[in-house]
Amino acid sequence: MKLAKKIYVAGGGAAGMCAAIYAARNGAEVTIVEKNTVLGKKLSMTGNGRCNLTNLDMKPEYYNADSRGRMKEWLSTYGVEDTIAFFKSLGVVVKSEDGYIYPVSGQATSVVKALENEIKRLGIQVIFDQQVKAVKSSSPDKAILVTDKAQYEADAIILAMGGLSGAKTTMSTGDGYYICKNIGMNIKDTYPALVGFKVSENEIMPSAGVRAAAEVSFILGAEVVATEYGEIQLSKDGISGIPVMQASREVIRYIEDGKPVFAMIDFFPDYDDTDFKALKSDMLRLKDDRTLEEFLQGFANSGITDMVLGRMKLSRTMKMKNISVSMAECILDNYRALKLQLASSYGYQASQVTTGGVSLGDIGSDFSCSSMRNVYCAGELLDVDGRCGGYNLQWAWTSGSIAGCASSL
Ligand SMILES: Cc1cc2nc3c(=O)[nH]c(=O)nc-3n(C[C@H](O)[C@H](O)[C@H](O)COP(=O)(O)OP(=O)(O)OC[C@H]3O[C@@H](n4cnc5c(N)ncnc54)[C@H](O)[C@@H]3O)c2cc1C
Repeated sequence: MKLAKKIYVAGGGAAGMCAAIYAARNGAEVTIVEKNTVLGKKLSMTGNGRCNLTNLDMKPEYYNADSRGRMKEWLSTYGVEDTIAFFKSLGVVVKSEDGYIYPVSGQATSVVKALENEIKRLGIQVIFDQQVKAVKSSSPDKAILVTDKAQYEADAIILAMGGLSGAKTTMSTGDGYYICKNIGMNIKDTYPALVGFKVSENEIMPSAGVRAAAEVSFILGAEVVATEYGEIQLSKDGISGIPVMQASREVIRYIEDGKPVFAMIDFFPDYDDTDFKALKSDMLRLKDDRTLEEFLQGFANSGITDMVLGRMKLSRTMKMKNISVSMAECILDNYRALKLQLASSYGYQASQVTTGGVSLGDIGSDFSCSSMRNVYCAGELLDVDGRCGGYNLQWAWTSGSIAGCASSL
């Protein structure tokens, strides 16, 4: 009779729990070693507490450039349909909101609970409050997982310790990077991604938060690095919101490397040049006794107007009749191209995912490490990051399931 394989999973987040379940379903004897005192801490915070599990619109292009070549194969091995079927097998009913998949419960905690129940049902052991420090090989087909309190011998080890992104309580301290480096793997430089940006100190920003539909382009020299559309958020010290977070994956390297990157915001993205010219002509008909404030009141959000007038050093009490046509046009043009210099990101703790990590060049199709074939990597630890919208959790499910199955064969 073949003995059950002994598998240790380092990290009980989305990828680790998924890997453990697939390995145990294949008959392996599985133990999760988790540094926190709970499983799935970050998972319970996802999607504003609602957990955007995956997305029906799934394409390799929605992941970082270095991973796209291999995402096609991985997503065809384990994709959206597999994720939905997996959660169905755990009793989690899902719903689509324009292709964005959420649990019908509307609670990320229900997803964590369902995974925990399956872990319990399969007899997977969970060791809490132990920090994995290293992996070593003991013989050609055994590996040792070293923690701050013990050493465990295994037939296979799955490293799923996440990255550096998320609140302190998520324990995202990037431990997996040095563990993988110590076994000879290459680590691509890491940066926070899906994050907002602080603007340069001398930029004039609204005194209270503003949300507005806009197109935002990120510019480095003459190059437009990324353009996104959606609801942006402006605060006293920076810009955020979904379009900014989406673009952050493309521009973060330049900003963190100290390059001068500007955000160019168009608050009238639905107008082409001809429409906007016509809009300006209509507005200029109101150039009479009213003040500048009265003139702009119905044109845009007052917080944005504060920024535009502040930057142009214009008083809101000026009479429109005293402002030249070209100056009035120039004021209105500012709402089409408000330029802000970015200073830095809001950092790892405010970010949703880490870009960079364990190089995919050191990972086989089954997620085994080239330097130690019975050690596997999964999840955010790897150099894979996706857009907002369920793509990062899909990566956790895809890499976790494939690593869990392969390690237990
Ligand atoms: C606020 C927020 C919202 C998000 N919303 C979404 C969303 O709606 N949809 C989406 O697709 N993605 C979302 N993400 C991203 C998503 O949460 C991550 O991509 C995903 O959790 C990564 O899974 P992981 O298992 O690789 O890492 P993690 O979930 O970070 O899990 C890693 C685990 O390893 C443990 N660990 C770390 N070091 C050690 C060690 N040395 N020893 C033992 N254990 C260790 C940690 O405690 C943790 O439990 C969000 C992220 C954040 C921060």
